[in-house]
Amino acid sequence: MTRRPTRQISVGDDRTGRVRIGGDAPVVVQTMTAGYTYDVDACVAEINRLAAAGSDLVRVAVPQRKDTTALREIIDQTTVPIVADVHFHYQRALEAIEAGVHKIRLNPGNIDDRDQVNRVIDACRERRIPIRIGVNEGSIVERKDKQARMRELGKFFSGHKHGHLIALMVTKIEEYLDIFHERGFDDICISAKSMNPAVVIDVYTEISRRFDYPLHLGVTHAGPRETGAIRSVVALGTLLANGIGDTIRISYASDPIYEVEDALEMLYCLGCRERRGAELIACPTCGRIQVDLFTLVQEVRKKLADEIELPIKVAVMGCVVNGPGEAEGADVAVFAGDRRGIIYVQGERVANVPEPEILDRLLKECRSFQAKVRNGEATLGEKKVQIIPPDPLGELGSGQEKIAAGQVEQVTVGRT
Ligand code: SF4
Repeated sequence: MTRRPTRQISVGDDRTGRVRIGGDAPVVVQTMTAGYTYDVDACVAEINRLAAAGSDLVRVAVPQRKDTTALREIIDQTTVPIVADVHFHYQRALEAIEAGVHKIRLNPGNIDDRDQVNRVIDACRERRIPIRIGVNEGSIVERKDKQARMRELGKFFSGHKHGHLIALMVTKIEEYLDIFHERGFDDICISAKSMNPAVVIDVYTEISRRFDYPLHLGVTHAGPRETGAIRSVVALGTLLANGIGDTIRISYASDPIYEVEDALEMLYCLGCRERRGAELIACPTCGRIQVDLFTLVQEVRKKLADEIELPIKVAVMGCVVNGPGEAEGADVAVFAGDRRGIIYVQGERVANVPEPEILDRLLKECRSFQAKVRNGEATLGEKKVQIIPPDPLGELGSGQEKIAAGQVEQVTVGRT
């Protein structure tokens, strides 16, 4: 896909490395800690865990003086650039800058005094610290009567269901940008979040037409992972597929580690980032299944995440219907039959094992294939042979005739 051209900002220092956002940089993943920043040990542990999962930046809330006091110690013990999330209190921004934070998130609308905002801008300029100007639907501060203002602004987007809201958010961003421009500051990234994916798509599309600053995408208050993932993928995936977005944060009412995992998977699927770790393909199962595939897939997923660093494509398939096709395209694959699994490495059959041995053998083949790739003895994604599916009534013992004859054993998920 063609990315929208933007300016580029750089977040970090010599110690953390510099994370580039916008321009020709890959889309950056970020998240936010869920614990208290003043609890230094817990905060450091959480940041390091999120960084290990693949978060390029980690944001922390600094609502109190004791949070910014803790920041210096936290920054010393972490290796990823840290963003301070500031609301209401400009002093927190100044303290965070003094503590060595790498980026500030600021909503100028909730800081009363222009001079206070100017002091934050000047301090950031002095230290070359970028600022994200964040406008959330729920936190827009409207000094005029909000309903009247919405009607007034809605005229600019007449006929659009969310026109008033988009107009309000875009206008707010313009007002805030004026403050920064008057100060000669353009080390800026912009966000405009809503909990409504349709609003997110429309407002970022509008912003991307008006400004060339890098965009931080997010659906705010997306809810628990089960539904929040859908909201986020609908909005962020649509924008990214249209070339809009330079850094993303998925927001779940859940452990932020899932935000990082899901953000990365979305970027991998869209081809916005080089995959890190194995790619797992698995069938959804159907009435042909004769092994406990759901349990097997979950076990394979966990082990691959722990043990495989290269982007090896692994397929776990339930039967001969789609198994051979997927096995052919995967680096390592298993397709199951009547309580057995046939394992392939780049299309070459290497084993036929009973169900209890499938997991161990499949992982052994993945580890061995990874070692070969590292030694230059194998290449990722290389198809060596064409697999001819076995006779359905042959060695795997599955197939239509068996199903028709009522010989297929029912499998209960989780059964050993
Ligand atoms: S691979 Fe086989 S078991 Fe899995 S969904 Fe397809 S037909 Fe069903």
